[in-house]
Amino acid sequence: MDAMTLLFEAASGAVQVSRRPMKNTIAEKLATLIASGAISVGDELPSERDLASAMRVSRETIRGALLILSTRGILSVVQGARTMVISANVGELALAEMPYRDVKAYSLEDVHGTRLVVEEALARRAAELIDAASLKRLQDLIAAQEAAKEDPLSFLISDREFHTVIYSAGANRVLADVATTLYAYLMDHRRRVVARPGAIDVSISDHRAIFDALVLRDGNAAAAAFKVHERRIYETTHQIMSREGLVGQSINRGGRNL
Ligand SMILES: [Zn+2]
Repeated sequence: MDAMTLLFEAASGAVQVSRRPMKNTIAEKLATLIASGAISVGDELPSERDLASAMRVSRETIRGALLILSTRGILSVVQGARTMVISANVGELALAEMPYRDVKAYSLEDVHGTRLVVEEALARRAAELIDAASLKRLQDLIAAQEAAKEDPLSFLISDREFHTVIYSAGANRVLADVATTLYAYLMDHRRRVVARPGAIDVSISDHRAIFDALVLRDGNAAAAAFKVHERRIYETTHQIMSREGLVGQSINRGGRNL
């Protein structure tokens, strides 16, 4: 048994099913997107209907989640107006992964290298373990992404769901948490990347390739498709940072790269 198999074997027994209300989970997901900078103070959220579609939950669940966030002073929910982010101070509501301020300190190269290793391992494992309900969810999320082509924020919210469904299907919570945390890296830049013409189309076709490989239970194809997607995320993020003269600030900051 190699080390990777051992790692997964050891962790699989620890996977727990959450019994918390779905609205709390959705509130945490939105809080995490706000904490990561994907959604900023002053941003209007997509409509309840669009959020329900992007996250594949009921409108009632979305309403409950928005109420939790508005009670905490994170959102302003006014009848007849779009819901707006008024504070990024989400406190413990952000999912308890690595603190985002620490994630930001890593270089783009290091994050990319780690994502390649972690996501490849999770993709292989997901191809083996993913259940029918999760596959259906991925299919629905791709449909939601098709419908959100003109709305980068809804697309990103749905994109995060898509990725985390696969990370969870890999049945190793530590790796899933690392992958989810690194997914949030430079989210403020990702948002501008997906707003560029054609970017969402390309991402959706990457997602389809990943989905097809999972349906076929082909671990090699799933890992390869994730690699293509991750490479694209790296290159487009790098491009937008170079263009804005940010490369020196966050890239090649110390250490050896993977
Ligand atoms: Zn994606």
